[in-house]
Amino acid sequence: MRLKQLKQSFGLDTLRGLLRFYTVLLVSLPLVLAAGFFFFFQRGQVIENELNGLRESLAKERSVVRSWIGERFADAQYLARLESTQLNDFTAMNRDFAIYKLTHAPVSAVVYVTPEGYTAVDSDGSPSVYVGDREYFHEAKAGREVLVSGILGRTSGKFICIFSSPVTRPDGSFGGLIFLSVQLDVLDVWLREATAGPDGGVMLCDNAGRILAPSAAVAAGGGPLTALVSQPVLAAGEAGALYRDAAGREMLGAAVTLDRGGWKLVREEPVSLALAGYRNQAMWVALGTLATICIASPLVLRLCRSLEEPLETLAGYARELRSKGYGETCSLAAPQRMPREIHDLFDAFSDMACQMRGHIDAIERLSIQDALTGLNNRRFLFSGGLKLLSAALRAGQPCACLMLDVDHFKRVNDTFGHQAGDQVLAHLGRLLAGAVRKSDLAARYGGEEFAVLLIGAGLAEGLELAERIRRAMAEQPSPAGERTLAVTVSVGVAEVRRSQAFGEADLDDLLARADAALYAAKAAGRNRVVAEQAVPPAA
Ligand code: GH3
Ligand code: MG
Ligand code: MG
Repeated sequence: MRLKQLKQSFGLDTLRGLLRFYTVLLVSLPLVLAAGFFFFFQRGQVIENELNGLRESLAKERSVVRSWIGERFADAQYLARLESTQLNDFTAMNRDFAIYKLTHAPVSAVVYVTPEGYTAVDSDGSPSVYVGDREYFHEAKAGREVLVSGILGRTSGKFICIFSSPVTRPDGSFGGLIFLSVQLDVLDVWLREATAGPDGGVMLCDNAGRILAPSAAVAAGGGPLTALVSQPVLAAGEAGALYRDAAGREMLGAAVTLDRGGWKLVREEPVSLALAGYRNQAMWVALGTLATICIASPLVLRLCRSLEEPLETLAGYARELRSKGYGETCSLAAPQRMPREIHDLFDAFSDMACQMRGHIDAIERLSIQDALTGLNNRRFLFSGGLKLLSAALRAGQPCACLMLDVDHFKRVNDTFGHQAGDQVLAHLGRLLAGAVRKSDLAARYGGEEFAVLLIGAGLAEGLELAERIRRAMAEQPSPAGERTLAVTVSVGVAEVRRSQAFGEADLDDLLARADAALYAAKAAGRNRVVAEQAVPPAA
């Protein structure tokens, strides 16, 4: 019930409402679907692809940085195994270290630390210091290599990392350690080249998340190793994630851990950068959809109108026709444009509406007419007669009733045949029709009996008309096949008695009184007119 009301209030119970509703649905659905597809499915796909790319790049970058670290450790091992180092020949070590340093630009210093923890040979020529309390010394004592990061080089003023490798004597005893102090210049250049753009890129950081390279990112932090990579990207790990950075920007990022020193490579970029291409694509799709709608809408609207207008006109005519009892509208003004099927429907309806009036008229006529004489039939005598008489009495008019019967009609039938009898009846019908006024009612009562209601006429006028008819019948022979027949009629005349509300019983009474007078006419010898017996005055 509620749904029905809702449909009515939005006009969805009409053709126009339904066409409009489904047209809007049809037009807007592709747009919504396209938008939904792009904003939910495609966007996720683009981000996933971008993350895949990010992970692939990181994997390549990790292998480069790994081999770079490996080379540095290999250098430290090489220097630890040099003959001069093994023999503890400081002079030779000084020479070898200087040569090494010359050919390895990023190495700012090569230092040998004695088993007791003092720097003994330093390619920088720095005085001996005690480093026995440093972590890398303890690690070297335990036979392990160490990578220490985040140190500001004393001579270069640049950030350096320390790659240390223990020196093991031929007898297997701990012979101190070699450490290389290495600048990250090479990595710096390389990482800067690998950086995607001003807003994104790859960064090397230590296990505390402090950025080691590229230097641009370091400098952006505002001081020595204070710049940190964002926490969410470290948490995202190798899988990568979509997150908001400290500045609130939506970012895509991933982080991979290198084996040594707890170093990590981090790659991140703003989502807006990744989605730039996607946005263009989405915009073109939206524009394409809009263009399609703009082109298609007028056509669809035109189609809707070509259906709505004729059908609404047709429905309007149907309503009008019904309200007028299918009686009046005949010429329907058809709309200009409409599909052929609706045109056919329109024509057929128009034609049907026109014919209907004719059929209804014919049926109505047949239902009240006597087929043989063309006069009203008995049914109409009672229905129409009652109305006529009631109206006349209300208007204060008198009314007379004639009851006619053909004399010796059976003989006519018996002697000349039924067809001749029918011709006589038709002849009498014509006489009656010609004798009464339009306002009167002449009907075939049954068989060869006829009744006439004379509106506005009293008994005297009724008798007068009855006599005219009788005489005409007697004087004008009726055609009957090849010959003519002189047939007479007897007529009984009565006058209506006024009652408060004239009804069926009064009409029956009037007809009965006229019939009684007719009976009297027959009894008196036929071919005559007899008035009803005067009503005896009330006692
Ligand atoms: P009366 O003078 O007393 O009226 O005698 P009548 O012969 O006219 O009366 P009766 O009632 O004996 O006969 C009426 C006849 O009218 C009988 C019937 O066959 C005939 N009749 C009734 N309707 C029709 C009709 O439609 N066509 C023809 N041809 N005859 C009809
Ligand atoms: Mg009769
Ligand atoms: Mg008769």
